Order: sequence, then structure tokens, then C-alpha cells
Amino acid sequence: MLGRMMQFPLTLTHLLTRAASLFSDTEIVAVRPDKSLHRTTYGATVKRAARLANLLTRLGVKPGDRVATLCWNHEAHLEAYLGVPAMGAVIHTLNLRLHPSEIAYIARHAEDTVIIVDRSLLGLFEKFRAEVPSIRHVLVVPDAGPAPEGTLDLEVELAKERDDFDYPALDENQAAMICYTSGTTGNPKGVVYSHRSTVLHAMAACMADALGVSETDTILPVVPMFHAAAWGVPYAGFLCGAKLVMPGPHLDPASLVSLMASERVTLAAGVPTIWIGILALLDKDPKAHDLSAIRSMVIGGSAAPPALITGFAERHGLHVTHAWGMTETNPLGTLARLRRGMTSLSPAAQLEKRASQGYAVPFVETRHTDETGKVLPRDGATMGELEVRGPWVAASYFGGEGLDRFTADGWFKTGDVVTLDADGYVKITDRSKDVIKSGGEWISSVALENALMSHPSVLEAAVFAGRHEKWDERPIAAIVLREGKTATDDELTAHLATQVAKYWLPDAYVTVAQIPRTSTGKFLKSKLREQYGELLLSKK
Ligand code: AMP
Repeated sequence: MLGRMMQFPLTLTHLLTRAASLFSDTEIVAVRPDKSLHRTTYGATVKRAARLANLLTRLGVKPGDRVATLCWNHEAHLEAYLGVPAMGAVIHTLNLRLHPSEIAYIARHAEDTVIIVDRSLLGLFEKFRAEVPSIRHVLVVPDAGPAPEGTLDLEVELAKERDDFDYPALDENQAAMICYTSGTTGNPKGVVYSHRSTVLHAMAACMADALGVSETDTILPVVPMFHAAAWGVPYAGFLCGAKLVMPGPHLDPASLVSLMASERVTLAAGVPTIWIGILALLDKDPKAHDLSAIRSMVIGGSAAPPALITGFAERHGLHVTHAWGMTETNPLGTLARLRRGMTSLSPAAQLEKRASQGYAVPFVETRHTDETGKVLPRDGATMGELEVRGPWVAASYFGGEGLDRFTADGWFKTGDVVTLDADGYVKITDRSKDVIKSGGEWISSVALENALMSHPSVLEAAVFAGRHEKWDERPIAAIVLREGKTATDDELTAHLATQVAKYWLPDAYVTVAQIPRTSTGKFLKSKLREQYGELLLSKK
């Protein structure tokens, strides 16, 4: 017997109509390149999204066409997040931190037809424009002065359009957004989110046991909108009617902290690097800013060091929510909340859970396997590759590439090496390409980094494999020291010796000014390996 309920499509169009009817006065704040604040509302944003849909139609954009953005986090980007998918086209968020040749590859691969680009990023665009012949029109967001001659000024063009649009009835499985993986191994691959996956992801993100987004929140997505849909945070906020605060290009700790304080932000999300900088700033002058409105800071994208979680909690009364995800998972996959009964565990055991990647959100399923594909036990010790499946997990890449990442029985291979415990908590020990194998034994670089970052002199640490004559690979630690602090190799080793097995202790330390990073703020260990990987051989 079939159910007798309505087939109501899960499309982003509903977010627009809901916002217009319920939250039209809710505020959206965006920071301009000159640091001034632009204030608008949901109502105005919905109208401008309709103008954008009309404008793109005038420019010849058809259902399924890709419309690229090369933008910071601001209200015009949000309008494209809504208007482009609702008109049946596909928004393609280009990562402005990539090399121009990489952006060109991605834009060509996706066959972008129109690009919306910030005035402040036109210089970058000009570096690859000639390499993407599919782009027919360039719309310039006048964020830093009017669009130059010869380009279309988004504001001028929007003003010519009507502020309503006859949105088509969409199939919920139609594409809404394309986001490319960062491609540290091989070419970047396109992940195509559907309306359905995006809507379900937004609803899951809003759950109290996930990010707990509600109408009373004021959300600051520090994570860029070109990185896995800013973790779905803007859609989750829009769905609930939360106030949105968009930081524009100003992602330095001082600007972010002052924005969080002045706008009374309740929920902010970003990669650990951002929060490491913010914690260092707060430690210097704890009373400078009133962050009492914050209810949680979501940290993901790479492992949140336990010292960061405790540092915020103990010194500033601020709560961290650690989450794991990937571009391929829209991105929310697991989240490290304490479960019923766990608050009676020792503080160390609680921290262990909260600093893990957590357990899967509803409808995401997790398992880990060995090289032969055998499913491994959930014993908190056996390491294997994490595999996931669920309604917002990629089933394939754009163009059918990377088939080896999808198993025959319907799981996605994440490339993360993990343990899973009996409670279902995932703990990442490494990215598979970053594992250190010493004499056939895996050493967790993440565990070593976390232990090093709990040393008072260490601001950041990245541990990578150095080639070794006898053991094949041994760990080397790259360290960034805190301002005015020192630490000898012996002090660091003594600090680690209390926390990890003896054979895990690094064979060498290198002090660096900054850990090299990927375009999405993760440690770029391949660069460290290139630079220092032979260090132990020459030491012999
Ligand atoms: P991306 O697709 O660029 O978001 O990268 C996804 C990868 O980032 C994952 O496969 C992990 O290796 C890493 N990652 C994301 N979140 C976390 C986290 N909370 N802890 C450790 N690694 C993470």
C-alpha cells in the first residue's frame, strides 16, 4: 500500500517563498572591502534574487546552464545562491584562492556561461578569462567602486529588471550547485548538489543535535561560500529565518572578533586556522570584545586541536562544536556532541569525544574498511578508510570522473583514515595521502599535531612523513611558535612523551613562520614533504 501524502518537491524555491512570506524584515549584514557595513533584509534579497533570475534569462541562461561566481561572502553572493538554482540554472562557486590556471580548468570543465565577479576580484578574473571561452557574459558586483567600462555592472543591470520571477516547477533531483573538490590529488572534480540534497542537508544542519540553527540565531559564515556551499550554513540560516552576517574579504582575527561583538553573532563557522588566530587574539586581551552572545563556534575542515576547544572553554567561556565533512558530503557528515550519560565521564574522556570528528548526523551512514574492502570493527583502535553514504553524499562526480571513489555496494570512499568506536564516534588519524608508515606501523600525524598544539609555546604544528633509511618513514614536526615564545626539541619531545607511544615521537622538528596551506585553509603537507622530506636522510 502506498502512502497518501503529497509529493511536494524539496527545492530551494521554497526557501525564497518562505522567506518572503515570513521573514521579510530579517536582517542581512555584509562587510564591504572598505570595511563599511551594508545592511539589507530577507525581503530585499528575495526581490533581488528575482531580478537576477530575470537578468540571467535576458542574458540567455537556460535551465541547467552553469552560472559561476567569483565572490567573497556577501549579500549579492547569497542572492545568486537562491536565484540561480530557483530559476533552474546551476550556481558554480569558484574558489578565489586557487591559482588562476586551476580556476580556468574548473570553469572550463563546468562550461560556465555567465560569471558574477566582485569588482575587487576582477584582477584575478582577468588572469584566466581568456582561457574560458564558454563564458559569454561578465557581471561585476560593484563592491569596490563601479564596474569598469566594457563590463556589465550588476547593480545597473538589476535595476532594469522586475523584482518578481515566475519560478519554474523544478524536479527536486535537478542540479542546484556545482562545487569542485580542492584536488590536492589529481584534477579537481565537480560535485553536483541537487535541490533535494541541499534542502535535506539544510534541514539536518538545523537539528538541535546538529548545528541547532534557529530563527533567533545570528550567523556568521566565516567559511567561504566557494567552499562546499559555506558548509550549507547560509541555506540553513535562510531556511530558519536567522539573521546573516557576511564577512566579505575581512577574515583576519581582529575584524572577525569585532564583527562578532558588534552584530551579536550567536553562531559562527570556520576552519581551525581562523579560530587559532582568534583564540590568540582573545588570550592577549580577553576583555577587549564582548562575545557573550556566542552560543557556539563550529569548527571543521581540518581537525580542531583539543587545546583549541579547551582554550576557548576554559579561558573565555566559549563553546566549540567540532564537525567533519567534505565537498562530496554537501558537506556535513559527522558532528562531535556528547551523548546522554557522557557528561558524567572524566573531563579528559569528554574532551576525547568532543575533539573526535563525532558521530554521523541522521541519514549519513559511516563504516571503515581495509585495503581489500573488508568492513573493520568499531573498536576505537583499528584504522581503516572511512566510507559514507546518504542523501547528501555524492553518487558520482561531474563528467563521471573518479569512479574508484565509489564502491560497488553504494558507499563513497572518503580518503580519510579513521578509527570508529563502539558509540559510532569517528576519529580521523590521517588523510590517506598524509599517513606516516614507520616500519609498517601507522603513526597518526593528527594525534601528534594535537599533542604538540597543547604545548604553551606552540601556535600551530603539522606533522608529516620524512623519508628514513631504516624505517621507510618517520615523523617530522613543523612548528610555528607563539610570539615571543621558545621551545627546544627536547622540551617538545618531553611534552609529547607523556601523551603518545615512544615510536611516534618525531625524529626532527623544523620551526617555520607559517604552515603552508591549501586554498581551503588545510595544512598542505605535500609542500612540507617536498621541502623537508629528505631531512632525515641527510642527517644520517
Ligand atoms: P573539503 O572537501 O575541501 O572540505 O575537504 C574534506 C576533507 O577535509 C576531509 O576528507 C578531511 O580530510 C578534512 N576534514 C574536514 N573536516 C575535518 C575535521 N573536523 N577533522 C579532520 N579533518 C577534517
